[in-house]
Formats: sequence, structure tokens, C-alpha cells
Amino acid sequence: MKLAVYGKGGIGKSTTSCNISIALAKRGKKVLQIGCDPKHDSTFTLTGFLIPTIIDTLQSKDYHYEDVWPEDVIYKGYGNVDCVEAGGPPAGAGCGGYVVGETVKLLKELNAFYEYDIILFDVLGDVVCGGFAAPLNYADYCIIVTDNGFDALFAANRIAASVREKSRVHPLRLAGLIGNRTAKRDLIDKYVEACPMPVLEVLPLIEDIRVSRVKGKTLFEMAEQDVSLSYICDFYLNIADQLLTEPEGVVPRELSDRELFTLLTDFYLNPTNNSNNSKEENISQKSKLNAGWDSSPTLKNTNLLLNEKQHKNDTNQVDFFLV
Ligand code: ADP
Ligand code: MG
Repeated sequence: MKLAVYGKGGIGKSTTSCNISIALAKRGKKVLQIGCDPKHDSTFTLTGFLIPTIIDTLQSKDYHYEDVWPEDVIYKGYGNVDCVEAGGPPAGAGCGGYVVGETVKLLKELNAFYEYDIILFDVLGDVVCGGFAAPLNYADYCIIVTDNGFDALFAANRIAASVREKSRVHPLRLAGLIGNRTAKRDLIDKYVEACPMPVLEVLPLIEDIRVSRVKGKTLFEMAEQDVSLSYICDFYLNIADQLLTEPEGVVPRELSDRELFTLLTDFYLNPTNNSNNSKEENISQKSKLNAGWDSSPTLKNTNLLLNEKQHKNDTNQVDFFLV
């Protein structure tokens, strides 16, 4: 199965990808994660360092594919997940699609491309030009990471359009959205009401996830030392389990930009229902907290992890949109 993870820059694609890759490996699958972002830090929390990229390696061998060995470009990461970084074209020149094409070509030459149960492409997706849509040509499923704000959902909608386009010539489905770094999902819900697609999971902003990036470790590795973190791993295991059922997914019908703007303007400027819901949510969160609920990762009680900082972030998003 081939997966392509997309989403706005900085939204948490690599973090989510690394932890899903391990979750899939924990379920007995042979997994390869391919970082397709010129930032080339996709696999950092799996290996603990920035591995050499395919493009750098090919350049150092003058593009003689026959001189490249698997161990030059495929690195073993935590949990037995194999890791590759495609690297990027020179800034302001070249094409990300070319880089992904070269990466797949080399992996095929090395007989590595068909060796895995799962290949996960971690791709950037602010602006999905033809080049960065290239991994969709190889994927069975696209997964979109978003938060509960306008920009990430705008990017998600453009990625949905790319999936619809590619699905005309290749059996590609959108597995769904993953909400990340958000205590709320009301705007996500409003979007999927208008553009139906599954929501696989919603993860709140969790300080330990931020720390994992700094430490160069995944949550699974950190949870080995601190079992109190295993509830975070359960989010990722839940996503992995859904993917392993080979879900039907959807071929999305993206909204036009105008429809999307209207939907979001309406959400922020006419918040009659939304604000009522939010108030009820906050009240019920408090009563659940007082009742001592645990924070196991179900969609219902991810809101429990709402804290002042998150609330501030959410508020900022609203302000940003209104400005
Ligand atoms: P992307 O790959 O989309 O550019 P990253 O995965 O590198 O984004 O994440 C950007 C930053 O956000 C990292 O510092 C990461 O640790 C942090 N992050 C991601 N998800 C969460 C989360 N749920 N809670 C807290 N921090 C997160
Ligand atoms: Mg990344």
C-alpha cells in the first residue's frame, strides 16, 4: 500500500508520518518512509539525524545510478522503519516532481520499491503544483493533515482537488483528514459537511509531541521511557488500524475558492450555532475534567486537552481571519 501525506507547511506532516510509520511497523508491516520535502527533515525523529538525500547522493556519483548502493540512501530508523529523503531541487530552480521521479527510479533500480508492504510519502502541500503532486501518481491513498483554521483547510481543499484530478487516471482515493494541533474541530466538521470525506483522527496540541522533534525521537520511542505517553501513541495506532482495513475513502469534490471563503466567512461572522456549540463544549469539558475523565484519544474527548495556550492559538486564528 502506498500512502501520500499532504498538508500545509508546519502543520505536522512529518511528525504524523513518522509516528504512523512506526504504528504500521508495530502492526507487522515492512515500512519505508520517503521524505519528499526539500526541508529533508521528514525522517529526523526516526533516525535521530538528517540523513543524506537521494539528490545529494546522485550528484556525488555524477548520476551514475549503478554506483549507488541501498545503504547509501536507505537508513534504518526506529521501530525498523526504513527511511529515505528525496531532497530538493536547487532553491528557485528545478522541480520537486523531478526529484520524486528520480527517487522512485533509483529505488526501483535498487529493487527496493516493491520490497515494502507500505511506502509512505511525506510531501509538502502549500501550493500543489504539478511537481509536488507527483507522489500522488504512485499512491493508493492520500491523507491530509490540517488544523481547525482557515489556511490549513484552504490547503487541504487544494490537495483534495489534486486527488480528484489524479484519480481520473489512476486508482487513488482520499483516505481522509487528520486534525492536528487543535483542541477544536468545529471548522473541520463544517468543511467535511460541505466536502464529504472521513476524519481519521484529531490530535490536540501536546507539548510532548513538540519536545519529540527537539529530541529527535518519535512518541513511540519516548513512551518506552515514560509509559504515560502511550496514550499519544494510541492516536497513531488508531490511524494505522484504519488504513490497514484498506478503507473505501473518497474521491473528493473540492469546493470552489468562492464557496470555501463563503463557508468560512459564515462560520466566523455568523457564529450563532458555532458559539453555542463551543459554549456547550467548554462547559461539558469542564464537567468531564471535574469528573476525572481520562484523556484516552477518542474523537469525543480530545477537547479535554484544551489549555489556555491552545485556546489562545484558536483565538488568534479567528483574529487572523477577521483582520
Ligand atoms: P511539517 O512536516 O508539516 O512541516 P512538522 O511535523 O515538522 O511539520 O511539525 C512542525 C512542528 O510542530 C514540530 O516542531 C512538531 O514537533 C510540532 N508538532 C506537530 N504536531 C504537534 C502536536 N500535535 N502537538 C504539538 N506539537 C506538534
Ligand atoms: Mg515535514
